[in-house]
Amino acid sequence: MTICSNKNPTRLADTLYDDMWLPEETIKVRQQVRKFADEVLRPIAHELNTTPEDVEKFPWELTKKMGEAGLFAIPFEKEVGGAGLEFPTLATMVMLEEIAYVSSGVAAALIDVQLILFGNTLKHAQESVKKELFPKLISGDIVGSFATSEPAASTDLSVRALQTIATKVDGGYKINGRKRWITNSPVAHHMFVLCKQGDAMSMLLVDMNSDGASVGEPDKKMGNYCQLTADVYFEDVFVPDSNLVGIEGKGLKAALTSLTLGRVGIGACGVGMAQAAFDFSADYMKQREVFGKPLSQFQYWQFKWAGYASELENARNLYIKAALINDKRRPNVQGMCAMAKLIGSTLPGDIARDAIQVCGGYGFVKELAGDGRQFPLEAIYRDCKIGEIYEGANEVQRMVIARQIFGR
Ligand SMILES: Cc1cc2nc3c(=O)[nH]c(=O)nc-3n(C[C@H](O)[C@H](O)[C@H](O)COP(=O)(O)OP(=O)(O)OC[C@H]3O[C@@H](n4cnc5c(N)ncnc54)[C@H](O)[C@@H]3O)c2cc1C
Repeated sequence: MTICSNKNPTRLADTLYDDMWLPEETIKVRQQVRKFADEVLRPIAHELNTTPEDVEKFPWELTKKMGEAGLFAIPFEKEVGGAGLEFPTLATMVMLEEIAYVSSGVAAALIDVQLILFGNTLKHAQESVKKELFPKLISGDIVGSFATSEPAASTDLSVRALQTIATKVDGGYKINGRKRWITNSPVAHHMFVLCKQGDAMSMLLVDMNSDGASVGEPDKKMGNYCQLTADVYFEDVFVPDSNLVGIEGKGLKAALTSLTLGRVGIGACGVGMAQAAFDFSADYMKQREVFGKPLSQFQYWQFKWAGYASELENARNLYIKAALINDKRRPNVQGMCAMAKLIGSTLPGDIARDAIQVCGGYGFVKELAGDGRQFPLEAIYRDCKIGEIYEGANEVQRMVIARQIFGR
């Protein structure tokens, strides 16, 4: 009997659910990204998901291949070199689900941060900057970062808490301060930085080769190893006027617009991870016999998996609906995005915990020394936890939803 390993999971979502609500163009994106994830990402995913943070191991080649395969064009309009889809947010979220099914770290670093936080903010930059950076972003030639968090400010992004300061000087601004936890920062070419300016905040784009900009060693984290984060230091870093994003003093609005979209992305990533844990362990339960019958014949586990199948569909529908609300510019974006994140980021932890339990040692192990087989659940369990914390902790998502019920 073969006890399943990381290679070919049975894609249960294809038979359990129906993508009937998805437009044709989104279904095509799902197929395109899945093919890429299976053929290009899967062969290197185990190493990416289990090798601790190391700048030397950043997947540059994968980044370039994602660009060449057209994945980085999916969220953007034709005018900036993008795919020009009718529902770009929806397609981006489906792409995140498909990539996170194989590697949560890649989905977070190279799509959620690179395309949603960095790419979406770039849409609000000045024309000269857009003209220069969009082609490089879409081809996979540059890596971007988005910095709001600091050692003492993250959930609370008030002027009182923020310590990174931009001072107006001739022809631009000087930035002084320190950011923390900044995804991609050890390898980033450009970074959007939220700065305090008197009683307001502005968003500035920093060329990371500028004098006075430096990045620390990558943090050693619980999971998402290939999503490198670090502290970033700014000492009198000059930023030209042309790198101001949107309106001076309205930087928080620019940041929150991208973060709201990012939240849907975290929900979609969670669905990808949850589905991966679900599929792997369902395969396992059909193969593994205890007391003379497969684990899949025990009603205890059947009932659990029936419940998870329903919750997965629920979480998927939520992120799809939140994405469509964004694309159709309908009201109540905030509440739906918060729900998509809250539900989508909680589910993978629940499923992964039970998936590890039912797979026993094969759930807990990364690599079996006896025959070298690789197993995915250990990484999923570690990787999914951060989804409940970043881009607005889930308590904050509950606050956003509660405000819609009870008012501010
Ligand atoms: C892997 C990783 C990648 C990241 N990438 C980036 C990035 O690219 N750019 C960036 O700017 N930041 C990034 N961050 C920062 C991330 O967004 C913050 O860690 C997150 O917002 C939480 O902030 P904090 O860690 O400072 O915790 P705090 O703000 O101190 O919050 C701690 C906890 O307090 C609780 N809490 C907060 N507010 C409330 C409330 N109102 N009611 C009840 N409970 C509450 C929540 O449980 C929360 O988790 C990243 C962090 C990690 C770990």
